[in-house]
Amino acid sequence: MIQSPLLQTFGCYIAGTWRTASQGRTIAVVNPATGEHLADVPNMDATDAMEAVKSCETALADVPDIDARRAWLTQIDALLTSHRSELAPIITQEQGKPLKESLAEVDYAAGFFRVAANHIDHIRDRTLDEIIRNARWTVRHTPAGVAGLITPWNFPLAMLAKKLSSAMAAGCPSVTKPADLTPLTLIALWHLLERLNLPPGFANLITGDAAPIGDLFCAHPAVRIISFTGSTVVGKRLMSNVAPHVKRLSLELGGNAPFMVFDDADVEKAADALVANKFRCAGQTCVCANRVLVQRGIEQRFTDAVAIRVGKLRVGNGMADGVDIGPLINRRAWDKVEQHVRDALEKGAQKIIGEQPSRPSDDFGCFYSPQIISGVTREMLVSQEETFGPVIAITSFDDDDDGIALANETPFGLASYFFTPNPSRAQRISRALRFGHVGVNTGSGPIPEAPFGGMNQSGFGREGALEGILEFCEVQVVATED
Ligand code: NAP
Repeated sequence: MIQSPLLQTFGCYIAGTWRTASQGRTIAVVNPATGEHLADVPNMDATDAMEAVKSCETALADVPDIDARRAWLTQIDALLTSHRSELAPIITQEQGKPLKESLAEVDYAAGFFRVAANHIDHIRDRTLDEIIRNARWTVRHTPAGVAGLITPWNFPLAMLAKKLSSAMAAGCPSVTKPADLTPLTLIALWHLLERLNLPPGFANLITGDAAPIGDLFCAHPAVRIISFTGSTVVGKRLMSNVAPHVKRLSLELGGNAPFMVFDDADVEKAADALVANKFRCAGQTCVCANRVLVQRGIEQRFTDAVAIRVGKLRVGNGMADGVDIGPLINRRAWDKVEQHVRDALEKGAQKIIGEQPSRPSDDFGCFYSPQIISGVTREMLVSQEETFGPVIAITSFDDDDDGIALANETPFGLASYFFTPNPSRAQRISRALRFGHVGVNTGSGPIPEAPFGGMNQSGFGREGALEGILEFCEVQVVATED
């Protein structure tokens, strides 16, 4: 059983009170590194979700003003920061990532509340200076309505922080549904939120049956926005289910990030950046390099530089000192990574580094030692889909046009990275890439201060910065005769 001062109960939070599921059912949460049973959380259904939505409707009738909302955002930033050393072990125990990454995740999450507080004045009413058509014109940003927030397991805190900070800034009461595999971090967050005395129903948390809860969000008339981070397949389902009800959707879906290294790049710098980018969360991030594209002339040098670094990485329980890569989330994830590597080797790729991992016998302890494979081609699964594991798959290319064409050869458009010191080359390449995030000589993913989101099948809508808040606002214009 998990021990934490932030987890006195494992309930859900509806209308300002802790609840069990109406049917009394629970879901077991397990440590993916050890199989330890961490807790049982409520397995709620559409009836419970309906109650949570109703409490939001009540809260929506009396939304506190911008100054009150800014004060909450600032307090949440401070609470997360001062409780980082209690939150981080919860993330690691339920998700598996190394403790140092969990600490970084708490800091990253806090940043979204801080940034939302900094931007909230931009949504105050604004009246145009001129009298036009004999009227005074006022532009208002009103809360879009009740928000349904659905998050994945790879960043249990940060993915929700992006959504909740913006919903709260915009004045939208919300119902959060975390991934079943990692609900404990958010239960801990709600224990902290309780200290703010938010209006009952302003921020609800429910754990449970994803499909009926998601269907309720889609169909319930009071829910006016659904903000979802997760797989493209579920995103498409939500999109088709909201269509008859015409409601707002913000979709942060899968990626297939290219990481390009051009022949004039600083090879050592690019190798450092790749290893930092790729192995975070054991390679289970939507923004991590999935296709490493290297210009032919430097391929050997770059591969050698990366291999030296990968050889030093330690795999193990994320709670142990010195661990760089934790377990994959479960055996299904392990099987997918193994299938990708096997498929590539069968189709002619070569393994550069990596022990042959043995298949885990359980749904926990799914450790996968980091691999580098080269000679990867577009037909291989590693090129076509997110591998979501600690595998560097290297493909070579000849010139800029060839590299750009390869990079864009995916229906996804989330993150991309490339390395060249030449500014005019960099300008041309960054403009040609069809991705929401482009890193130039950096492997850094998103930050709270800048908007982040996908193009093409990676979804639409932006999180972070002012753009994140605007997703949750309706713009209303009032023209009053002067
Ligand atoms: P997932 O299976 O789509 O699950 C994500 C969330 O959706 C979970 O809370 C899940 O609940 C819920 N869900 C499942 N079926 C649903 C339904 N029918 N209706 C409503 N909600 C439903 O994705 P995942 O495997 O957890 O996450 C990995 C994916 O997320 C990857 O593709 C990754 O690239 C993507 N991702 C994208 C971003 C981004 O910013 N674009 C960030 C992180 C991850 P249960 O857990 O209870 O099934």
